[in-house]
Amino acid sequence: MSSSDDSSQAVLALGSNLQPRAQWLDLALDLLGEKGIQVLASTPRWNTAPIGAIPQPDYLNQLVLARGTLRGLGWLKLAQAAEVRAGRRRGVSKGPRTLDVDIILIEGESLTSPGLTVPHPGLLQRPYLLRGAAQLVPDWVHPTEGLSIAELARRDLTGSWAIGSSTPSGSS
Ligand code: ADP
Ligand code: MG
Repeated sequence: MSSSDDSSQAVLALGSNLQPRAQWLDLALDLLGEKGIQVLASTPRWNTAPIGAIPQPDYLNQLVLARGTLRGLGWLKLAQAAEVRAGRRRGVSKGPRTLDVDIILIEGESLTSPGLTVPHPGLLQRPYLLRGAAQLVPDWVHPTEGLSIAELARRDLTGSWAIGSSTPSGSS
């Protein structure tokens, strides 16, 4: 728990690979504001190569540190509301999307349910997620790895920094 009230903090990953990509990320940020979620910090936006066999455009990604009076599945509902708002159609799994909002970390929580796994399994597999999370919450400890996010990012830099190359983005 991050404070004396019933709020919690979460690291969310926003992604879009259908135009207008930047506007879909802006829409997600607007929706957070509407729902009373505070954005405490955010990373720059990156272009990220898609992962997997489906040919599709590069993603524009951004991570944000959010705080709200939400618990576990409440964060997932919020993420899905943003995706619906962006008109996301669930077609091919891992295919192109207007907006993807993933819950990467929730402070002090470890969850495994059919609808929600936190920390997000991709955190340890996608360098841009680890690097982004390390900018926002370097001191949070990964509940199963037992290392801080900064330590995990450093470990990744000196080890397998191969998957999901990313480059800084302009505005789109
Ligand atoms: P992905 O983000 O992996 O490319 P989707 O956005 O289509 O794929 O999500 C697939 C499912 O993953 C969702 O239905 C959601 O319930 C589930 N899920 C499990 N854990 C998480 C998480 N931490 N964040 C977001 N979705 C999650
Ligand atoms: Mg997703």
